Amino acid sequence: MIPAGWVDRQLRLRGIDDPRVLAAMAAVPREEFVPEDLRSHAYDDAALAIGHGQTISQPYIVACICQALALQGGEAVLDVGTGSGYQAAVLAELGGRVVSIERVPALAARAREALAAAGYAGVEVLVGDGSLGVPGRGPFAAVAVAAAARRAPPSLLAELAPGGRMVVPLGGRRSQRLMLIERRGDGFAARPLAEVRFVPLRGVEGVR
Ligand code: SAH
Repeated sequence: MIPAGWVDRQLRLRGIDDPRVLAAMAAVPREEFVPEDLRSHAYDDAALAIGHGQTISQPYIVACICQALALQGGEAVLDVGTGSGYQAAVLAELGGRVVSIERVPALAARAREALAAAGYAGVEVLVGDGSLGVPGRGPFAAVAVAAAARRAPPSLLAELAPGGRMVVPLGGRRSQRLMLIERRGDGFAARPLAEVRFVPLRGVEGVR
């Protein structure tokens, strides 16, 4: 159960003000996406370990990513780094048609189960190198990348639809800047959203 006042304390008071995002965060049961022994911490103001050296992102950061993507419903959305599946669930709750890609098969399998249990069986979870996007499935109106790279992977930029938005943490190993990149005409506009610390994006167009 989502604790009373959680959305206000962790999200609204810190500047998340999109009512659709607040409603989606209040609707997705985060406890379904954390390991059994961490369920009592599901609503902590923190990232939590999910095994394989990976984490489920802090709720505020998930909300920040969703707010920046500004989904209205019905958009094709790519979620890179499924992890627990929580971010994918919130994007689906916002009405996105979500394709999510994870490189660790065991995490992808667990995320599929969690998504089904939480009522988001429509999210498609693929196993593969998401730094290369999902060839043949784009263009995407929104791309959420949950792992850090030095620069935005060109393959992911190429899959952004005109006017499409991507949120990606860019920087070094210890800290990064969560960036919003928008496809505008022939180019891209970028602006920083927050200072963050994500696990590295592996793969051909990641950190390796
Ligand atoms: N969005 C997730 C956060 C997961 S952490 C959640 O809500 O729980 C980032 C995830 O990205 C990890 O599971 C990691 O295995 C995965 N990852 C790292 N590099 C990747 C790549 N190149 N392709 C796909 N997944 C990748």
